Amino acid sequence: MPATHEVFNQPPALTGYDVADDAAMLDALRREGAGWAEEAVRELGRLAGSARAQEWGRHANENPPALRTYDRFGNRIDEVDFHPAWHELLTVAVRHGLHAFPWRDQRPGAHVARAAGFYVWGAADAGHCCPVSMTYAVVPALRHAPDLAGRFEPLLAAEEYDFGLRPPETKRGLLAGMSMTEKQGGSDVRANTTRAVPVEGDGAGTYLLTGHKWFTSAPMGDLFMVLAQAPGGLSCFLLPRVLPDGSRNGMRLQRLKDKLGNRSNASAEVEYDEAVAWLVGEVGRGVHTIIEMVNMTRLDCVLGTATGMRAGVTLAAHHAAHRRAFGRTLADQPLMAAVLADLAVESEATTMAAFRLAGATDRAARGDETEAAFRRLALAATKYWVCKRAPAHAAEALECLGGNGYVEESGMPRLYREAPLASIWEGSGNVAALDALRALTRQPESAEAFFAELDQAAGADSRLDQAIARLRKEVSDPSEARARHLAEAIALTLQGALLVRYGHPAVADAFAASRLADDSGSLWGPWGWGHAYGTLPSGTDTSAIVGRATPEI
Ligand SMILES: Cc1cc2nc3c(=O)[nH]c(=O)nc-3n(C[C@H](O)[C@H](O)[C@H](O)COP(=O)(O)OP(=O)(O)OC[C@H]3O[C@@H](n4cnc5c(N)ncnc54)[C@H](O)[C@@H]3O)c2cc1C
Repeated sequence: MPATHEVFNQPPALTGYDVADDAAMLDALRREGAGWAEEAVRELGRLAGSARAQEWGRHANENPPALRTYDRFGNRIDEVDFHPAWHELLTVAVRHGLHAFPWRDQRPGAHVARAAGFYVWGAADAGHCCPVSMTYAVVPALRHAPDLAGRFEPLLAAEEYDFGLRPPETKRGLLAGMSMTEKQGGSDVRANTTRAVPVEGDGAGTYLLTGHKWFTSAPMGDLFMVLAQAPGGLSCFLLPRVLPDGSRNGMRLQRLKDKLGNRSNASAEVEYDEAVAWLVGEVGRGVHTIIEMVNMTRLDCVLGTATGMRAGVTLAAHHAAHRRAFGRTLADQPLMAAVLADLAVESEATTMAAFRLAGATDRAARGDETEAAFRRLALAATKYWVCKRAPAHAAEALECLGGNGYVEESGMPRLYREAPLASIWEGSGNVAALDALRALTRQPESAEAFFAELDQAAGADSRLDQAIARLRKEVSDPSEARARHLAEAIALTLQGALLVRYGHPAVADAFAASRLADDSGSLWGPWGWGHAYGTLPSGTDTSAIVGRATPEI
């Protein structure tokens, strides 16, 4: 067919760039003690921005996993089939230790280095980060059973991805999952009905589990941390998919969920029929044990959200730098510059908070009690707030591409569908906000550590100082009904304090002017901000801010 028209005014594909070329992330990496990992993070960033990895992400999402309940002879196998691209993504993630690096490498900053790898590699695909995150997170909980940790930790930390149904101890590397949520209750896990019956005369803490789980992601994993009701109360167990003798455990995959997003990853409904599992931690202390795993995955909810925001604003800024309308590039249109700058401010603030929390995780793991106390409150509040900001951020970034943003090939629909998930996982919005309230009221040392952190930024910006003063007033009279308000204020003041101390001056100024300034006399003024993105005050240095989000290709 002869050419009917010339194609022009479409941006070049955003490919072949370094995802790790991200000033806020690299500064945070160094500041939080993992500057030594920069080259490895950049290598992963270049791979994440390559056409090859982008194709893996696309294929893995366009060809979602399928449940194979039976083999062709009618034997029950309960296996999940994945597109080869999924295996490529996981191979890279595991080879770079994103599932376990700090459990192999004792260097200070190891959790931060791993966080940076997780942050950049997540740009290739969010779905496979789920088993990566759960495997990273399982280790602190598993250590409540030193014998089991001795058996399985080296394999969980091995940098080899070894897919398939075989006894865990015969594999070169293992992946782990988490099985808590049941039909009648997810947030309220004490309502779990799955029963755990001790095996008579067994000195190894073996139980038989019978019941169901309504959501178990990455069901093709090797080991699962499961909550079940033992005679002595709700307890935590480690459940292998294949038993040490090679026979299948009583774990049946009933269905895979047909999910809004996160489509490359499998999430299953599971039934346990006298499934063999080993006790982890004390009987009746299941929540206390598994919360160690939940706290690690919560960090990844914040990191994954930062990844999604960065990917969205990068795609938007790239498009706007190349697309022209009404005589100039979109990026040069003042109102588009205001939208992009606002998206970039949100993204940088989220990245900085995520890395501060990764640093606290690292130092807490090395015995720093003040950092552990700081993390307790700051993680719950930040998880609540940044995850709440994500869907609107993804929608606005998508709109910057106009109609192209609504089309699957742009990558924006994937970001948009993924955006609400982190807020549901590991403590939905209300539950996370209530957890922040609980930390504040029941663990005064966490409030103390948190305000000590804010105090370090005192005097640098009057808007931040006033916001901190308002927060102090708010925390003096906490209530459940205002828990969201409180969590939001905690997260915003932390982001503000980090930006004021370490951020780019234009980003810090825009953040304080929009997110901290109190124009109305109420805690967070209705006119100061909080409506659509793109409402930064006039005078904001948008070109400096947007420049930091515009990728070089
Ligand atoms: C894609 C996906 C994958 C998942 N993977 C896993 C997995 O691998 N393992 C696993 O165990 N679970 C998994 N889940 C389940 C998830 O953790 C739960 O859905 C979540 O914990 C919420 O539980 P629920 O669905 O039972 O909702 P509910 O607990 O019924 O909550 C419903 C709503 O009520 C709110 N709420 C609850 N309590 C209160 C309260 N006291 N005050 C005010 N509001 C409240 C919640 O915030 C929420 O908005 C997955 C979910 C999704 C969507």
